[in-house]
Amino acid sequence: MVKSMIKGHCNCESVRFQAEDSTKDVYVCHCPICRRATASGGIAVAIVARDSFQWLNGEEHIKTWHKPGHDWQTSFCRICGSNLPGPNDSNSLYIPVGLISEGDEQMTLRHHLYTDSKANWEPLSDEAEIHVSVRQA
Ligand SMILES: [Zn+2]
Ligand SMILES: [Zn+2]
Repeated sequence: MVKSMIKGHCNCESVRFQAEDSTKDVYVCHCPICRRATASGGIAVAIVARDSFQWLNGEEHIKTWHKPGHDWQTSFCRICGSNLPGPNDSNSLYIPVGLISEGDEQMTLRHHLYTDSKANWEPLSDEAEIHVSVRQA
């Protein structure tokens, strides 16, 4: 698969990153923790290989919060509060796709996760696959 250069940054542009990956699928996590973290219907992310990813600047501005008693964590810019990329598993990272300024042209929303927890006000009327599961907040 053809790799494309993905570039992105937070709202204040202190933190910048890039990744060279062929990822095209976008996942939205509707779990209650992600909904609170984003104060919205969930977080839309793409998954990239760790070795394809580089921070370009501002790594010192990244704060990480681990939810106590949980394996959930979030990274964000300590200046502007934008969500930032973080670990998905030992080989991959997630990138919140709203940060991407370049390289998302081929990406498509493919998966809705934890839809049992989705917001009542949010219809899931697109073509993406629904993964029904419950995550305790
Ligand atoms: Zn920022
Ligand atoms: Zn989640």
